[in-house]
Amino acid sequence: MYTDFQSHLRTTLADIRDAGLYKTERVIITPQSSAIQVEGGKDVINFCANNYLGLADNPELIWAAKDRMDARGYGMASVRFICGTQDTHKQLERVISDFFGTEDTILYAACFDANGGLFEPLLTEQDAIISDALNHASIIDGVRLCKAVRYRYANGDMADLEKQLQAAQAQRFRIIATDGVFSMDGNVCPLDKIYELANRYNAVVMVDESHSAGVVGQTGHGVTELYDLRGKIEIITGTLGKAFGGSVGGFTTGKKEIIDLLRQRSRPYLFSNSIPPMIAAAGIKTFEILTRSNILQDRLHENTAYFVEKMKAAGFDIKPTQSAICAVMLYDAVLSQRFAAALQEEGIYVTGFYYPVVPKGQARIRVQVSAAHTREQLDRGIAAFIKVGKQLSVLK
Ligand SMILES: *Cc1c(COP(=O)(O)O)cnc(C)c1O
Repeated sequence: MYTDFQSHLRTTLADIRDAGLYKTERVIITPQSSAIQVEGGKDVINFCANNYLGLADNPELIWAAKDRMDARGYGMASVRFICGTQDTHKQLERVISDFFGTEDTILYAACFDANGGLFEPLLTEQDAIISDALNHASIIDGVRLCKAVRYRYANGDMADLEKQLQAAQAQRFRIIATDGVFSMDGNVCPLDKIYELANRYNAVVMVDESHSAGVVGQTGHGVTELYDLRGKIEIITGTLGKAFGGSVGGFTTGKKEIIDLLRQRSRPYLFSNSIPPMIAAAGIKTFEILTRSNILQDRLHENTAYFVEKMKAAGFDIKPTQSAICAVMLYDAVLSQRFAAALQEEGIYVTGFYYPVVPKGQARIRVQVSAAHTREQLDRGIAAFIKVGKQLSVLK
């Protein structure tokens, strides 16, 4: 009988709506790009995709995917270890290891799965996970699935991390888990200091490079490049769904024993389908493009610096950022929604975030810059921000 449950669900949905937290999907009718068309035919400039390197509609990737689909079919219809592994998957794993300077790599259907299946096979109730308070939901869920004792430290707070590491000496092994770039502020984790503390307190480091790989570091090799720690971090997770082409797929890369044990015991790997060969082939092509030349990485860095500088000069309050995420602080939740709606009217696609996604009184508009943005698109975005900023008295 559905009646009681249905009325409960309707009440819950009404509560979500009343709180102004009801999410609706925005429907795009063109390929993902810096300029898109949305349902109804409106052309907008896109500042809210994770398409950092502009590869989501890259012709080389599309060709690589088509070509491999013709050669190897549509899907694998199997998990990896039964009959879901082609040479293409093995090749992509090697290419990812080369990119990060790691020993071995295991692919997942998504980084959510990589993080979800990471901790439980490695640690028991005798061990500890020390997690940054602002870590991604998938790390939080992965930690929940593991029996290890949980410690939490304030975002990027190394004094707090040290305190938690001292407490965690009571356990056998310790993993420190952190995002590379935190997606709401765009700040980078202080991986150099984390690594130092890990050495001092005998801990292993896990960093999720989802928002940092392809973006951070001179050649976009992520936070391990930024802090000159290539090959030193034991566990890196990441996604093919952001800078690396924007399709699907996740990975864990790092020390070979860790990867080997994940292949034996990680549940999302053992009990979920392989990524299609065409996606693996496009993934290989992505890393080829990024190692062949630094054009996209350079353009992303130039675009981000340009955007942030112009926005600051215009008088906006921008969170310090070391990534392609630019948080334009408005503080007030209602203002953030009005601002985002007005920008959309101006043909600028952004997202306004407010509590509970960010702390109370910390509402903001998050802008994501891409290598695909032309200077003209950036200028149109900045001009629209200034126009709306004046209309809504955010700027004088
Ligand atoms: C986006 C993201 C994920 C999830 O990646 P998918 O491949 O889309 O599942 C995991 N961790 C972080 C930090 C992310 O930003």
